[in-house]
Amino acid sequence: MDDLLIRSGHVIDGSGGPGREADVAVLDGRIAAVEPRSARPARRVIDARGQVVAPGFIDIHTHSDFTLPLNPRAESKIRQGVTLEVVGNCGFSVAPVLPGRAQLQREYLASSAPWLEFRESTFADYVTAFPATSVNVILQVGHNTLRLMTAGLDNRPVTAGELGAMERMLEEALAAGAWGLSSGLFTAPGNFADAAEIHTLARVLRKYGAAYSTHMRDESDQVFEAVREAIAVAEATGVHVQIAHLKLSGVNNWGGAAKLLAEIEAARQRGVPVDCDAYPYDTATNPLRNLLPRWVVEGGVPAMLERLGRAEARARIRADLARDGLTNFGRIPSWDVVRVAIAPHLPEEAGRTLGEIARRRTLDPLDAVCDFLIADRGATRILIASMSEKDVREIIGTPWVLVGSDANALATSGVTGQGKPHPRSYGTHARLLGSFVRDLGLLSLPTAINKTTGASAAALGLGDRGVLRAGCWADVAIFDPARIAERATYDDPHQYSVGVSTVIVNGDVVLDGGDHTGTLPGRVLRRPAGPPLVDRRRLM
Ligand SMILES: [Zn+2]
Repeated sequence: MDDLLIRSGHVIDGSGGPGREADVAVLDGRIAAVEPRSARPARRVIDARGQVVAPGFIDIHTHSDFTLPLNPRAESKIRQGVTLEVVGNCGFSVAPVLPGRAQLQREYLASSAPWLEFRESTFADYVTAFPATSVNVILQVGHNTLRLMTAGLDNRPVTAGELGAMERMLEEALAAGAWGLSSGLFTAPGNFADAAEIHTLARVLRKYGAAYSTHMRDESDQVFEAVREAIAVAEATGVHVQIAHLKLSGVNNWGGAAKLLAEIEAARQRGVPVDCDAYPYDTATNPLRNLLPRWVVEGGVPAMLERLGRAEARARIRADLARDGLTNFGRIPSWDVVRVAIAPHLPEEAGRTLGEIARRRTLDPLDAVCDFLIADRGATRILIASMSEKDVREIIGTPWVLVGSDANALATSGVTGQGKPHPRSYGTHARLLGSFVRDLGLLSLPTAINKTTGASAAALGLGDRGVLRAGCWADVAIFDPARIAERATYDDPHQYSVGVSTVIVNGDVVLDGGDHTGTLPGRVLRRPAGPPLVDRRRLM
């Protein structure tokens, strides 16, 4: 007897093919059958009439390693139908932390993971101690973390000895099950690394059949050069490269989406193993300090705070921003497009723009920014509306661009329910299937589902998830295509999406009639030993 029979739903199986009326049987955590009007007996029957039955969604780029230990039920993600999160992105991972380096890591990640505790840990210990969660998790090790552990925040090439230490830590992490390496070349200390350093580490990845994902060196005025740098890693080493949260930031770059996409598509057509992902919003989120010139953060957070208090440093920042625009984000119309998301030491300021804060204090905006960073001990996180909606729609509307929220699993109550974080934590996948597919018609439903299921699994080299097929793991999302929608807004982000009724993870029902059951059936998916079993190039 099967454990579950999902009856009479419209099955969209994740392959990109059209939907069909079918029943889905689940036994021992796996899909047992997908067949019309199944007569298989089951302990429980779920009536899916009028709903779509799809593979659980793969959120291919997230930072939930910063919140899953605090919110193992992964509420904001589960309620969108997400069943797998890829974490450890943008060069940031919680481990490894070498002896004596925990405080450095704590300061460094305060604006990304303000509520998490950091302690000395090998990657293997981290994997072992990772909590049981409602979603499945793929862990990556971060290049910024490896560099922080060896060269700190020094602006210089690593020595041969330091590079050797980074390679050894990477090997340890891969041996412990890390899926691959992520980089964050946009910010210190990753931006101090040259292409050769990344290629050296990518050769370690190739030995293990592991993957590379990158928050590129630039997403604004040099975004084309940055895309070429990412593609070159795949070309030189054969390692699969995932370009994270593809965007064109800064008013000077608006309108360039088609050209940027064409560059990546041409590489894919040459057979280069490269994929990219995006989130369906025109607003990014980042530590406030990352908007300032890169020299500001050299030497670490305490050095930055001391620097920001000095008039000559502010004058130099002002001149740099006037010449180059904001670091990582390019030119913005004004500081009114930058708003405080989370300020651990000034929580009452969450939701205000830096333009408003400056006017209230009758300060020049840059002085207000520097004062704010000092008062918040460098830990401020902001939202910045730096993209054009037209580019966002063009990128999201491209069938081969995958879907990554770039966001943490949050909950409306508890420690992760604080501040005004980016609504994408709660809304990415519901916005894709509601606003972008149903309301705007940018993509067909089977194509959109393929992006976030089958095509994402293929990019990851996962052969047994992302499709509803007998033998695959039973990760399933059941939703009403007429009702699925995001509710979270910038003003009121802590709101769950609606329209998803049932979510199944490894055969266990996690969301039941729209309610979280509290069960934690997710597991850390460890990269299989040796070369990948599945050809990482697109399977479907
Ligand atoms: Zn990133």
